[in-house]
Amino acid sequence: MAGLLNISEPNADSHTETLNHQNSSDDFLASLATDANQPTPHKHSREEIAALFDLPLMDLLLQAQTIHRANFTANEVQISTLLSIKTGNCPEDCGYCSQSGHHRDTTKLQAEKRIEVDKVIAAAKRAKNSGSSRFCMGAAWKHPSAKDMPYVVELIKEVKALGLETCMTLGMLDTNQATQLADAGLDYYNHNLDTSRSYYEQVVSTRSYDERLDTIDNVRNSGINVCSGNIVGMGESRDDRIDWVHELLKMPKAPESIPVNLLVPIAGTPIGDKVLAEGQLSVLEWIRTIAVSRICCPTSYVRLSAGRESLSDSEQALAFMAGANSFFYGDKLLTTGNSSQSGDDRLMRELGLTKQFAAPRAPKVLPVLDAMNGHQTQVVLAD
Ligand code: SF4
Repeated sequence: MAGLLNISEPNADSHTETLNHQNSSDDFLASLATDANQPTPHKHSREEIAALFDLPLMDLLLQAQTIHRANFTANEVQISTLLSIKTGNCPEDCGYCSQSGHHRDTTKLQAEKRIEVDKVIAAAKRAKNSGSSRFCMGAAWKHPSAKDMPYVVELIKEVKALGLETCMTLGMLDTNQATQLADAGLDYYNHNLDTSRSYYEQVVSTRSYDERLDTIDNVRNSGINVCSGNIVGMGESRDDRIDWVHELLKMPKAPESIPVNLLVPIAGTPIGDKVLAEGQLSVLEWIRTIAVSRICCPTSYVRLSAGRESLSDSEQALAFMAGANSFFYGDKLLTTGNSSQSGDDRLMRELGLTKQFAAPRAPKVLPVLDAMNGHQTQVVLAD
């Protein structure tokens, strides 16, 4: 089948040929490498994505790790730190989220106003000192308001000045807002699709799937890298997980960053209560989703996100084997717990993983001082 590697067991007749393949493994990996500047080269059909999900797990992991090594430095992971810059009372009704104002009577989450800029910068410095290359800032908004824009633009500039990549997740963005964030130099914008189009209405009713796609389009068209992922284990079927991967491939270019979250069921949220009552999805199905994402989006960073806290070392090792090469560092993810930093350091040592350095992009608009009149002005840099 097109797009699937032949990884069937070699028989005696093919033994010599197999050895030759091993001798030229560098050529083999090079042949699998994908130019990150090109749109996804082979857009897997829905049937091909379904066939990948159906593979025996070891075949799927081997294929995912092989494609991963052809496109990224083996054993190197990108590390991000996430900070909630405005918590709770969100007007959206995402059924898994403790920050939704719709569930505040049952989750009892304490809402917090915007964090002051200097406190965010102090957190970014701590993140950098502990080895993060990207600092992600999340706000529980439907979309940023006009009065929020100068605040978030200042945060982008200040965090970039530390030499960190920046990422934000602030809800929906129109074209003008996306342009303002791009001009400030924002590296990534996160806006998850969460699930398939058909399961989406079981998850959120206050904004549509198409509105999510519109924001992703606005981000992409502004020149900011797209970060868009899902949440596995919300009661969706495998067909929904297949459809979600297929949705990524319908985009003009697959997201540069793909967080594959494992639901952390939060008591008091509609989906959390349902999953706590009915039981959680097998971790192996989450690992399959990571592997299929890696194969279908070979040049994207596939990120382990929410859900890691409850996983064993072995389960996390399998997720890296499946092609994940990015994760969140720090003891907290917005409002849910995360693996401890010291535990992550120990696991990385045991697995032989190393941290990737940051490569923040330059802002499009730079302030400069006019030497003739002492006034500050701006220059717009070419792409
Ligand atoms: S997931 Fe985001 S948009 Fe949805 S309720 Fe939570 S904070 Fe709001």
